[in-house]
Amino acid sequence: MLPTFSILRPTTLDDALARLAAGEARIHGGGTDLLGCLHDGVFATPTVVSLGQVPGLAGISATADGGLRIGAMTTISEIVESDDITDRYGALAQAAAVVASPQLRNQGTIAGNLCQKPRCWYYRGDFNCLRKGGEKCFAYEGENQYHCIFGGDLCYIVHPSDTAPALAALGAICRVSGPNSSRSVPVEALHVPPSEDPRRETVLEPDEIITEIVLPPPAAGTRSSYRKVRARASWDFALAGVALVLRFDGDVVADASVFLSGAAPIPWRATGVERAITGKGLDDATIAKAAEAAVAGAEPLANNGYKVPLFQGLITDQLEAIRPRG
Ligand SMILES: Cc1cc2nc3c(=O)[nH]c(=O)nc-3n(C[C@H](O)[C@H](O)[C@H](O)COP(=O)(O)OP(=O)(O)OC[C@H]3O[C@@H](n4cnc5c(N)ncnc54)[C@H](O)[C@@H]3O)c2cc1C
Repeated sequence: MLPTFSILRPTTLDDALARLAAGEARIHGGGTDLLGCLHDGVFATPTVVSLGQVPGLAGISATADGGLRIGAMTTISEIVESDDITDRYGALAQAAAVVASPQLRNQGTIAGNLCQKPRCWYYRGDFNCLRKGGEKCFAYEGENQYHCIFGGDLCYIVHPSDTAPALAALGAICRVSGPNSSRSVPVEALHVPPSEDPRRETVLEPDEIITEIVLPPPAAGTRSSYRKVRARASWDFALAGVALVLRFDGDVVADASVFLSGAAPIPWRATGVERAITGKGLDDATIAKAAEAAVAGAEPLANNGYKVPLFQGLITDQLEAIRPRG
């Protein structure tokens, strides 16, 4: 049952910030994750602050430098439908298209997608796990087939967002407003690994609001893609996913940014893959080395060893698909 809470609908950003600063409260974007968490007792709050009536937080527009601004309240569907995003930021369009279901994409917002809570069944269930303030991670010795193979330290969740790895690879920045100041946080630095704090998902303070996400203009020769593998064809989170943003100079990879989903508690930068392909053409031998590099250092748990060959196959497929054809 949904617990009792007050819902506030501020009509200015300043009012929304003041409501958050006034005491314990949670931000409501589209509510598709927040309300599920409240319903399931993952956490409680006396107050929910809806951003639905705050002007200026939605919509997609060009920036002066040729990049793109995506308002925090822009829905995932609006991102899928944007020709500009499809044409110039393919990884984001492809990631948004495989988020959840059409209904959830119509309601869920881009900022909510970045800030959603983990999907671990112990965290979401009746277990007082470490992330909820308890003593231990139950997944470590329990049912861990959907958990991480990298970056597990005290807590073994995987980050659930498809858009986060794509945005991180594209070099996107979150603009964040707080009660007294504003700041910029690269999406790559938004999420907190459990080694730093297993009870926190993002670097945001409870009274800070993401107002927009800004994408730099793609450099000439850039190609990008996102693909995830999931157990079911719809309504399912990534078992393994890869966001690639590669700048080609002719056939050679001049710059590479590669992030994995379904791999780690945060969008996981695959620096080994980046090193394996930068300065090289994507021939079969280079791709084979990149696939090996993708899983170097992986530490599978008892039930998720299948993710190692899955990531190798995914990296191989995606690099083959993105390489220029003579
Ligand atoms: C059945 C199901 C399947 C799903 N499958 C996928 C999937 O395959 N891939 C995927 O990526 N996601 C998936 N999701 C998650 C879904 O995409 C998210 O629920 C949605 O994107 C969250 O958006 P929202 O606006 O509804 O967030 P909300 O529920 O409103 O908020 C989520 C969190 O973000 C915070 N928040 C919201 N807006 C802001 C802001 N502007 N600034 C700071 N904090 C903010 C909230 O306080 C809350 O903690 C699934 C969800 C469900 C229920």
